Amino acid sequence: MPIDPRLPYDENNVFAKILRGEIPSKKVYEDDFAFAFHDINPQAPVHVLVIPKAAYVSWDDFTLKASDAEIAGFTRAVGRVTRELELDQPGYRLMVNMGGHGHQEVPHLHVHIFGGRQFRVMIG
Ligand code: C5P
Repeated sequence: MPIDPRLPYDENNVFAKILRGEIPSKKVYEDDFAFAFHDINPQAPVHVLVIPKAAYVSWDDFTLKASDAEIAGFTRAVGRVTRELELDQPGYRLMVNMGGHGHQEVPHLHVHIFGGRQFRVMIG
């Protein structure tokens, strides 16, 4: 079920538990701003999620409340992950689902990185 992004941050959401190490994940990157791990249900040969370390429900919440330093740090981390995965030359796709129409399911901001194959033009 999609989330309601207006709700307050839920400290018990699954990605908060991954950040606290309470649930295992296949980590690919970590720095002061971001943590990245393989999606548990990959939709492409490479499907990695990058999440901010701080508590933001959604993209909307993040861009409204995060400091410029956090936004810069998180954005740069996404770029570092794509380069570490060597996706930059063949290319890749980024996606953020936001709220109900975006079909966001986990109430902690996450950027999807898809790679490893050619994608079609349209989205579903
Ligand atoms: O953008 P959206 O909220 O719909 O995506 C949530 C993503 O989190 C899904 O791709 C799902 O497979 C992934 N997930 C995960 N590990 C979990 C729970 C969800 O990788 N424990």
